[in-house]
Amino acid sequence: MDFDAARHGAMIQKAFSENGVGGLLSFDKVKTFVALTERLLTESEKYNLTAIREPDKIAYLHYADCALAAKVLPKNARVIDIGCGAGFPTLPLAVLRPDLRLLAVDATEKKVRYVEETARLLGLQNVTCRVMRAEDGGNDPAEREQYDVAVARAVAELRVLSEITLPFVRVGGSVIALKGKNAAYEVSDAKRALAILGGQIAEVDDTPLHSTVLGEQGRALIRIVKQKKTPAGYPRTWAQITKKPL
Ligand code: SAH
Repeated sequence: MDFDAARHGAMIQKAFSENGVGGLLSFDKVKTFVALTERLLTESEKYNLTAIREPDKIAYLHYADCALAAKVLPKNARVIDIGCGAGFPTLPLAVLRPDLRLLAVDATEKKVRYVEETARLLGLQNVTCRVMRAEDGGNDPAEREQYDVAVARAVAELRVLSEITLPFVRVGGSVIALKGKNAAYEVSDAKRALAILGGQIAEVDDTPLHSTVLGEQGRALIRIVKQKKTPAGYPRTWAQITKKPL
């Protein structure tokens, strides 16, 4: 593997400072991110974990991208990451925000096992992991309305995403969706779903991800506040959610 750790560490710092989040980093945190990249690259050779496998892209499109969400999470929040995949945003959030308590869930067992083992190897003690389908967990009384924040990146369009995230959030808590460009139409499409599920759009921050290396990348950070309890009957089955989005 052709990997220059010192160069990569410098690239991570550059990616963060170009996006106004350099202040979240320390020498030790950069070292942890470099170790995370080494692990991601090694494990990606064995099976398909993430499409982004080039160190400079990892610095921007995984780490700096997830750092944008680290800025907006309340102190000491209990957070659930729905559809964590290879650990995004969970693992960057865990590095940058040791105050958070994070639960990473995904329907795919091998991804959850990868994230769990990675958190252990990196010494991230604020992460727990579980194999779970979100629409099942959302109906489990032990999980329903138990979290301050649900986060999700690249999982589903906002109508679908609202139904699988809002049930986990307590009234007064929030959903933070990390989206790419063109999220504006998803927001207007999701108004009805949000009204049914007890949520309301609080903010759409469409500041792009800046990169002198990759070029500017369109982004939208959508924050939904939960105003009232999600009615019984939601989330529905995955087939219903996706075939007849609210
Ligand atoms: N959040 C990660 C992964 C995105 S890929 C990232 O940004 O890199 C989407 C992930 O969501 C996949 O790993 C898939 O298994 C998971 N997923 C999709 N629908 C799900 C559901 N209903 N419940 C749980 N996980 C789901």
